Formats: sequence, structure tokens, C-alpha cells
Amino acid sequence: MKKIIIAIDGYSSCGKSTLARSLAQHFNYAFIDSGAMYRACTLYFLEHQVNLQLESDIENALENIHITFNRIDGVNTTFLNGKNVEGEIRGIAVSNKVSEVAAISTVRRSMVKIQRKAGLDKGVVMDGRDIGTVVFPDAELKIFLTANFGERVKRRVLQLQKQGKSISQNEIEQNLKHRDHIDSTRKDSPLKQAHDAVLIDNTNLRENEQLAMAIALIEERIKNIG
Ligand code: C5P
Repeated sequence: MKKIIIAIDGYSSCGKSTLARSLAQHFNYAFIDSGAMYRACTLYFLEHQVNLQLESDIENALENIHITFNRIDGVNTTFLNGKNVEGEIRGIAVSNKVSEVAAISTVRRSMVKIQRKAGLDKGVVMDGRDIGTVVFPDAELKIFLTANFGERVKRRVLQLQKQGKSISQNEIEQNLKHRDHIDSTRKDSPLKQAHDAVLIDNTNLRENEQLAMAIALIEERIKNIG
């Protein structure tokens, strides 16, 4: 069967990674969580006290950052320079800083280069903010996910509880608002729906309903391109 690129974009905690992961599993495609890459960069910047105002500091840091993904017990896990950082990159320290780091063009250029390489052979599902608009503007299928704010907060609370992290609902609300604002107003690659993306509002959809919709869309696309 012909392999395609599936780009999934949308706001934070809209279920992008959940959908992307399930689709990758269903079609036996690679799954790339591009947000995890920006989070891993941010962790490195925090640990090494990289000065975000100094271009040379940022460039040096980027040369020393190697991000890989591995499956551990069936879970997609992020490694930074060989160390499992999956837990740390989801914490509040990284969450509060990541959008600032991701707004830096030098950082984006470096991440996009790696992301495009991962798509060279197609057969990839990538989720993020600019996948359909910048990373893969020719992706065969683009999905833009939304959900109402209250629902997104609820999902984030549950997700963090599952990971054993105790972050107050208020902190989560502030963090989502903060990231939404920076991500959608930054100059370089702002979060927006690609003109040819399919919009799915999943506020009232169950995970399996959303997955079935996406699978149907993909099968249709693959059939149409022969
Ligand atoms: O997807 P996730 O919420 O983990 O992404 C964390 C942050 O990384 C986002 O809030 C955004 O600032 C940044 N990001 C980005 N471009 C992407 C993916 C994530 O700017 N393609």
C-alpha cells in the first residue's frame, strides 16, 4: 500500500499525540512527537543555563543536542543525548519555558531539518504546531485538532495524574493559556490551521470515534492517490 505523510496539528492537550500514536500503530508508520523535540531542547537549555538572548550560545547548545525516540514497554520514549528524559520533559519547568524556546528561529530551523529527514521515506505520522504549514506543506493528509478549553485542561490534569505528577489545575490553565498565546502569535511558524487541513473538533468525541474518522480519511486519501 502506498505510504503517505500524515500531519497532525492543533493546540496543546487536544489529543494530537494520542491520535498520532494510534494512527502510526494502525498503519505501521513511524510516529514523531515534534513537541517532545522542543521539550528536550528546552530541558537541555535549562540544565545548561543557555542564554536565550545569545545566538552563539543557542547555536553551540544545538550542536550538542541529539534527540532520539525509542519504544519502551510499548511507549514512545524521548532520549536526550542517550538519556531517557520522557518524565522530565513533561514537568512544569519545561512546560513553562518550551514556547519561549520554540519561538527562536535558530531552534526551529534545527528541529525542522531533523523532522524533514524523518519524513524522507514517508510512512510517518507527525504531530505538532507547524507540521502541515511548514515542515510538510505537501503532506498527503493534514488534520487540525481543536477542543474547548475546559476539556483540554481536564485531559491535561488526567494525563499528569497518570504520570504521578501533582500540578494544580490553576497552574495547568495558566500554562495552556501562556503557550496558546506564544505559539499562535510568534513570528516564525505560528500555530495555524493549514488551508487544506481537515478540522476535527474532538470536544465531544471519544478516542475511538476520532480514530475511526481519521482512519477513514487516510484510507480515502491513499485510495485517491493510487
Ligand atoms: O505538543 P507539546 O504540547 O508537547 O509541545 C510543546 C511546545 O512545543 C508547544 O507549546 C510549542 O511551543 C512547541 N512546539 C512547536 N512546534 C511544534 C511542536 C511543538 O513550536 N511542531
